[in-house]
Amino acid sequence: MGAMSERYEDIVAALRQAFPQPVSDRVHDAYFVFSFLRALDRVDAMKSQAPMLGKPEELDYEAARRSRIAEAPASLEQVSEQLVDYLSGMFIWGHPKAQINVVPSSSIPSIIGGLLPSIYNPNLASDESSRRVAVAEVEAVSMAADLVGYDAGRAGGVFTFGGTGTLLYGVKIGLEKACPGTRRKGVSGSAALVCSEQAHYACHSVANWLGLGEEAVIQVPTTDDNEIVPCLLESQLRDLLKDGRRIAAIVATMGTTDAFGLDDLKAVCGIRDELAHAFSLDYTPHVHADAVIGWAWSVFNDYDFDENPLGFRHRTLRALAGASRRIRELGRSDSLGIDFHKTGFAPYVSSAFVCRDAADLKLITRDPRATPYLFQSGQYHPGRWTLETTRSGFGPMAAIANLRLFGRDGLRSLLGHLVTMAEALREHLEGHQATHVMNRGNFGTVTLFRVYPEGVDTFTVPDRELRDPRYREQLLAHNAYNRRIYELMQAEALSGEGVVISLTDCYRETEYGEPVVALKSYITSPFSDERYVDAVLESIWRARDKLAAEESTQT
Ligand SMILES: *Cc1c(COP(=O)(O)O)cnc(C)c1O
Repeated sequence: MGAMSERYEDIVAALRQAFPQPVSDRVHDAYFVFSFLRALDRVDAMKSQAPMLGKPEELDYEAARRSRIAEAPASLEQVSEQLVDYLSGMFIWGHPKAQINVVPSSSIPSIIGGLLPSIYNPNLASDESSRRVAVAEVEAVSMAADLVGYDAGRAGGVFTFGGTGTLLYGVKIGLEKACPGTRRKGVSGSAALVCSEQAHYACHSVANWLGLGEEAVIQVPTTDDNEIVPCLLESQLRDLLKDGRRIAAIVATMGTTDAFGLDDLKAVCGIRDELAHAFSLDYTPHVHADAVIGWAWSVFNDYDFDENPLGFRHRTLRALAGASRRIRELGRSDSLGIDFHKTGFAPYVSSAFVCRDAADLKLITRDPRATPYLFQSGQYHPGRWTLETTRSGFGPMAAIANLRLFGRDGLRSLLGHLVTMAEALREHLEGHQATHVMNRGNFGTVTLFRVYPEGVDTFTVPDRELRDPRYREQLLAHNAYNRRIYELMQAEALSGEGVVISLTDCYRETEYGEPVVALKSYITSPFSDERYVDAVLESIWRARDKLAAEESTQT
């Protein structure tokens, strides 16, 4: 565009080309699609053998802060080129050599599901403004409700801004049950949010944002398998109730972020019922299942593990059954959260909050007088009770795309494959005396492990490090050792040779209060393959040899 100002009509005429045409124009549609194709082509040019687009980038925030809006418009072509450049240096989560975190690759239908509403902007505040996309939300919620074991005819829910959002809805409803009228008068008293020590920090965020305060979060210790200790939950709840505290919510974590620990939801609900009775409570403490990771395993609720029609290996079957035995209890929760963007192969953000009994939603429904300009017609008005006003159709459309694409068998097969790969990794790590799997009792697609130098007895040392304060020095030295292993593996992976895994600074605390560092392999790619499991191991041995060589030159 020239330096001389154009007349506004000319500018508008040019900019119109950058919008989808309101009436059928196949030639312009081709231009639209072709523009996207060119963007994809540029992205493709960034691919290599490494699990990353382009190269690792030095991020220049100084330059970013000097950015200003230009005087003249740019062309669609210029802008889309520039947009693609922002992807440079991104990990390709769906690459089999990326085993970093619980980030899936998105299926093509789920991407299209997300794109369509971004063209037409349905607003899920109401069916007045979203029409059949509102139906998609009801379908997705009903399918999810039925899948996890709720009565879909009675359940209700919405898509919201991430797993944290789902937890916020659950705890908010629980708070209204425990302290009726909070919505009007604000928080009074000191209601508690009870969860495990391995629960996601989102519990703290929610307590903070709801005005309960982070100190209202009471964390109950977990077993070595990262699940809440039921008898400690019970004594904790008893103490709170004796002190006259109200219970805003009990959060059961159904798939912890680092280790895939699964709380015993049946026991949690049993304890809740028993104490509500024993203390003659005038409300039933709300149990919210933070199942944002674990929900997907619900597809195994009705899998015949004896017949094994999909033909999983024995070790895989055992792992799937191990997770299923907890996940099949999800229907007992009062509400739960689902991240389709964690274990459902959908793009960010696609999270559903689902309530076992839609009647609970009345507790957070606004007075219709507060929204005079909305909800004049139609019959579906989640905007009456959602925190958000505008809600995008992205989440439900992406979710429904995958629920349809996969069916139960598709999701079973994908999860089964990822678990098979994780189990193959574990088999090797358990078989070698220099490595120790930390989350042995957790049967997901994440493996936490530690690597030890030559001469450490890995039959006894890892366990002693966890419990015996006399092993403090050794624990800390091995923490540092694992950090070094991680750095070497990372450097190798970024050069295109190895596999990118990650490191957790505190997989859990030792019984004497020190953090345990662990290496983490999170397998989420449909393209994962035994070759890449071997590549992780080879990279570990190379890193270990390198450290041993450094050690011997120092002494
Ligand atoms: C990731 C995660 C969350 C937070 O979900 P977001 O979608 O990142 O907001 C909450 N709980 C658990 C267990 C998680 O793993």
